[in-house]
Amino acid sequence: MASAPLPTHAPLPIDEALAIVAAAVTPLAVEPVALADAYGRFLGEDVRAAVDLPSFPSSAMDGFAVRAADTPGELRIVGESAAGAPYAGSLAAGEAIAISTGAVMPAGADTVVPVEDVEQGDGRLRVAEPREREGHVRHAGSDIRRGAPLLDAGTRIGAAQVGALAAAGLGELPCRALPRVAILTTGTELRPPGATLAEGEIYDSNGPMLSAALRSTGAIETRIPAAADTAQAHRAALARALEHDVVITSGGVSVGGHDLVREANRELGVEERFWQVAIRPGKPLSFGVRGRTLVFGLPGNPVSTLVTFELFVRPAVLAAQGARDHSPAFGSGALGAAVPRRLGREDFIRVRLSGDAQAPTLTPLKGQQSHQIAVTAGADALARIPAGRGELAAGEIVSYLPLRSF
Ligand code: AMP
Ligand code: MG
Repeated sequence: MASAPLPTHAPLPIDEALAIVAAAVTPLAVEPVALADAYGRFLGEDVRAAVDLPSFPSSAMDGFAVRAADTPGELRIVGESAAGAPYAGSLAAGEAIAISTGAVMPAGADTVVPVEDVEQGDGRLRVAEPREREGHVRHAGSDIRRGAPLLDAGTRIGAAQVGALAAAGLGELPCRALPRVAILTTGTELRPPGATLAEGEIYDSNGPMLSAALRSTGAIETRIPAAADTAQAHRAALARALEHDVVITSGGVSVGGHDLVREANRELGVEERFWQVAIRPGKPLSFGVRGRTLVFGLPGNPVSTLVTFELFVRPAVLAAQGARDHSPAFGSGALGAAVPRRLGREDFIRVRLSGDAQAPTLTPLKGQQSHQIAVTAGADALARIPAGRGELAAGEIVSYLPLRSF
């Protein structure tokens, strides 16, 4: 029995399409993650410091712990407080304790005189100038207090965050689960890079590219071998892909007779939420859901694949991890050359960035067609050219999305 035709409609404005994807994302479960494995993960809950930081009053310098009231003057060195090996006694008038950075301030001392500010010899030292109390002393809790909010839910854990969490005594963290993402390229013509090509065959560049683009999101990927352009091959490969949290296909979402992805998705129970977005490249993008699985049908032209990944898939994979900042991070800059506009479609053109990093010049690359991935490899960013008549003049301010290399 012939099934009903697939839905068609006018291409959606990009912001509407992005909103539909955002509404379909449910953040993944929160799970405990050892600090050593937490780099790149997103916190699923707010976390608080488990200790005062520093946990005890300590010295900020290598020098001598003394009483400010004894300065200027000559003092007797009666002991040492080293990091991890505090001085057991307490300091009396006229006494000094050699102290190292991070070592516990001895009882009775109220200031530290750095080693370069004293003259010493024979177990004694001379401080020529009067010193203020509290000089070079780090107070307990001066970085953060025990129980105080340290990092919020939705924060991504980078190196500085790992340092802060470790210092604050947190060995295990509540993180969002990592999304399991299936990558499936489609096309009878596709061969793995390095294979010998027969007439009409091409290398599968979208598979490796999507895999690389995903890496910085933290997702766990499954590469499904490329599906030939038969309904059977599409169904079998998609059935496997749909076992994941996110499915990314490339190719087969346009209007050609061999474009089988949308139909196969439908047969497998994917509810299509939209097809066609008013952007170039990337217009035939499809998006649907099956249960909690997000299903992205990216167009097959390599530049379209890259652009739609950055605009739609990366934000969704980050949102699934509860990321605080998951929208595409546009900057703004000035066009370095005039650019034609198109009625009814926004253009995401490939540009080089130069000049001031805060207000860069965006120079369009020569070769803006959607198959030109080699040209695109020289681009720094996608400049967003609003729909309209005529052209945008050089110097016009537009927004751009950096193409992240890593
Ligand atoms: P399609 O949407 O399947 O018609 O694909 C559009 C264009 O992109 C065709 O020229 C395909 O050969 C090409 N293409 C599709 N998938 C890939 C891929 N994985 N790697 C490189 N090119 C591809
Ligand atoms: Mg195809």
